[in-house]
Amino acid sequence: TPELHIVGGGMAGSEAAWQAANAGVPVVIHEMRPQVGTFAHKTGDLAEMVCSNSFRSDDDEQNAVGLLHWEMRQAGGLIMEMADRNALPAGGALAVDRDRFSAGVTERLRAHPLVRVEAGEIAALPEDGTWIIATGPLTSQGLGQAIARETGAEALAFFDAIAPIVYADSLDMDVIWAQSRYDKGETEEERRAYLNCPMDKAQYEAFIDALLAADKTEFHEGETAGYFDGCLPIEVMAERGRETLRHGPMKPVGLTNAHKPDEKAYAVVQLRRDNALGTLFNIVGFQTKMKYGAQTEVFRRIPGLENARFARLGGIHRNTFLNSPTLLDDRMRLRSRPNIRFAGQITGVEGYVESAAMGLLAGRMAVAELLGRDLPPPPPETAMGALVHHITGGAEAKTFQPMNVNFGLFPPLDGVRGGRKGRKDRYRGHTDRAKTLWSEWLAQANAGLTAA
Ligand code: FAD
Repeated sequence: TPELHIVGGGMAGSEAAWQAANAGVPVVIHEMRPQVGTFAHKTGDLAEMVCSNSFRSDDDEQNAVGLLHWEMRQAGGLIMEMADRNALPAGGALAVDRDRFSAGVTERLRAHPLVRVEAGEIAALPEDGTWIIATGPLTSQGLGQAIARETGAEALAFFDAIAPIVYADSLDMDVIWAQSRYDKGETEEERRAYLNCPMDKAQYEAFIDALLAADKTEFHEGETAGYFDGCLPIEVMAERGRETLRHGPMKPVGLTNAHKPDEKAYAVVQLRRDNALGTLFNIVGFQTKMKYGAQTEVFRRIPGLENARFARLGGIHRNTFLNSPTLLDDRMRLRSRPNIRFAGQITGVEGYVESAAMGLLAGRMAVAELLGRDLPPPPPETAMGALVHHITGGAEAKTFQPMNVNFGLFPPLDGVRGGRKGRKDRYRGHTDRAKTLWSEWLAQANAGLTAA
């Protein structure tokens, strides 16, 4: 059997290698550490956790990331096995002893007769052979440039810019109204696509003061800024002038307060739907480097958001990622060079678990191909399928930003109550449906791989 080459022995590359080797395919992992380091990695081990030691919720009935754990365990995932073996007490979360975890992954892969680890950086796109590139958010500069040359510079980002996301059912709709600027849109739904939070002059001035005073996270040393001029953090915009935001993301023009039609707002914060279900809204243009505590404090000053619950807070990070919806096919192959797959965070998923999950899938897809078979992606009703569908086609390409797994990515359920009250039933409905479909897909995938 021809070899599978994997660039990057992180969360995704390690899992991809494990899946492929266990299916009988020889694997070479090309890992640049410890020869070439990054600002975040500290060791030469495979699957190093660069920051938190948590795999987040392990609840596979009420939580999408917990469901992803379950799906990976069913598929014999190495990352989950080592996380379980090295788990630390952490309530409902799966936290691990990071050193033992990555040492365990490293030992297991090095001991596998079909896995070879080759030290050194890969700085060019391979011309032939079957490859998976899983070089993560801190892809080396040389390889990043080679990818940008292939995809076009605008299709590869070096920073993410994440605006905070709030739950729709935590918004005060007595203050907020739905309206698109200048009532733009073909349908009634489009003309009401945005939610608007009005501010008077005093509220705006106080908000700017709070922004300027808030605690911010600094970029890490070596995480040089300067790439992200197109999407400045709101606090940097505020530093450039007190009126900058009022002429930018907070401009009040083309909007009429449905609750107080005679009052002209001095500034308006807009929220945009973030998922098909309409349960999540992002705060438009509000990417920020404020610390998490400061973000909740500052954003709850926005009229209508006093009791907002946040599904995700904002951030800007060094993060190399592809515009996957335009670049990758549904088998995770680079359309322009189908001998190369991408996996992990570089495909536009976010987090250890999601990255490992995309490695698992890419590893299995590459194996199927090397054995002359085809492995279709898992159904979108599964956590794995929801993620891969999102990045390879479901997401809006123009505004594509890294994504965590969440139930908003899953096709809606029929006949389950909506709203806050129905939430538990809905989540349980999602996880039950996903488990059945994942088991079916996996049985077929495993049968395909073991058949002669
Ligand atoms: P990685 O795990 O980073 O693995 C990529 C591997 O490729 C690395 O080992 C790297 O050395 C290697 N490599 C890169 N370029 C080359 C090359 N040219 N040739 C050979 N090898 C190469 N996620 C969380 O879930 N929780 C967190 O708290 C968290 N904190 C983070 C903090 C920081 C500062 C950063 C940068 C990221 C953080 N993340 C966090 C995201 C996390 O890094 C990823 O989710 C996860 O590690 C991605 O897995 P991956 O396999 O795609 O990349």
